[in-house]
Amino acid sequence: MAPFTMRCNSCGEFIYRSTKFNTRKEICYGENYLGIQIYRFYLDCPVCKNVISIKTDPKNLDYALEKGATRNFEPWKEAQIWNDFVSKMREQEEEFDPMKALENRTADSKREIEQMEILDELRTMNARHEKVSFDDVLNMVSNKVTPQEAKELEKEEKEKEEDEELIKKYFGKFEESEELDHYVKRIQDDESDDGEPPVSVDVQNMVQKEDKKIKPASLGVRVKKAPKKDSGKQKNFHNMNARTKLGVIGCGTMAKAIISGLEQSDHDLYLSVSSQTSFDKLKESFPAARITFSNQELQFSVKPFNLKDILEPLNCSDSNKVFVSVCAGVSRENLQKWIGSPNVVRAMPNTPCMIKEGMTAITSDAPMTDTVGKVIWIDEKHFDSVTALSGSMTDAALSLGLPRTTSHTLIAQTMKGTAGMVLNGAHPSFAKESVTTPGGCTIAGLLKMEEYGTRNALIKTVLEAAKSSKEMATVKQRSD
Ligand SMILES: [Zn+2]
Repeated sequence: MAPFTMRCNSCGEFIYRSTKFNTRKEICYGENYLGIQIYRFYLDCPVCKNVISIKTDPKNLDYALEKGATRNFEPWKEAQIWNDFVSKMREQEEEFDPMKALENRTADSKREIEQMEILDELRTMNARHEKVSFDDVLNMVSNKVTPQEAKELEKEEKEKEEDEELIKKYFGKFEESEELDHYVKRIQDDESDDGEPPVSVDVQNMVQKEDKKIKPASLGVRVKKAPKKDSGKQKNFHNMNARTKLGVIGCGTMAKAIISGLEQSDHDLYLSVSSQTSFDKLKESFPAARITFSNQELQFSVKPFNLKDILEPLNCSDSNKVFVSVCAGVSRENLQKWIGSPNVVRAMPNTPCMIKEGMTAITSDAPMTDTVGKVIWIDEKHFDSVTALSGSMTDAALSLGLPRTTSHTLIAQTMKGTAGMVLNGAHPSFAKESVTTPGGCTIAGLLKMEEYGTRNALIKTVLEAAKSSKEMATVKQRSD
């Protein structure tokens, strides 16, 4: 049988794929691919009896035409060759240009995020279409159910119950939350389920010897249940039903912003604070969260150099929790060393997280959700640039060595988020004040802005534009 379409070199007859032939088989002695013997087949052209020879091609899982005919052009084969060529070129390019590699990776992850967004949108749309049927609307309007419909509904309900029972029978019980805990535990979950925040207790006991007069800086460590690596049905059921437990050490501005953004979503929140005042305030702001408070004036919001002493005794080496640090200037490597677990994500969020319009840069390959705004994956070497970026412009970002696409996303989302906060009723100065910590990088930036007269420049710009627009209006009136 002809393995592909070809044209006889002698008479020009086309021999189509799957045309049947009587062939002679021959072993090509001394020719093999990784030990697989290569064979040769002879077949005759059905018109002119010209001999055509074909060899097996184990390397490409194909046949190769040897002589007597010409193989037809096959676009899919060309496409494959082209794809191979492109990926090879990219590999070579990335090998010698790490910047290009980073840009490619960013583009990849951006594309992935976009695809996920589109998928999510489609799902939401489908769900919406599914939910609202014409009959439902009619029922709602007339607000009554006919006896036949009632019967049907009952039948449906019964079927659903039966289905659920069947699922329970095969996959165990996961409906009630108590049973769920039990179920999750069976797949080796070492999280304490006695309602106590798993981390803050240990921290309280061991930070007692801390200096009590340390000024709070922006640190928060979020402890989150790691996504289970062993996928399959168990994992799916787990994700569908369980609420993620999230512990926060130190509830400063940043942590509060994240918590407000997360409050409506499906998370169990455990907060730990250092003073009665903040305890009361948090209790009022987040009634759903469980808050612990130590009356010993402990500082959970600490400066980076105290972080080591807090994290090391935690001893979480064999846990499957994910640690998220929003502490500026502490490398992921150090955090991993102190915590004793590789599951560390370094994140750099901003205050618009509270209205789910945040721009969070993260490093590491851990899967993170975009519950509180956009998430961008970024190489750790750029993290300090990102810290400085919360308000700078693209050119500044480029001069710090960030790729252009990354800079654009970061800045645009920061702007959008801040604008959204103001639109939601926050005073513009609040947006500034809430991120300005004593001796922090925001105030350093603001000072430079004052030094170069940014405020003056902005006012003059607006005044000049207004003046120009007024002049144009006058000219237009005259011409009318
Ligand atoms: Zn022929």
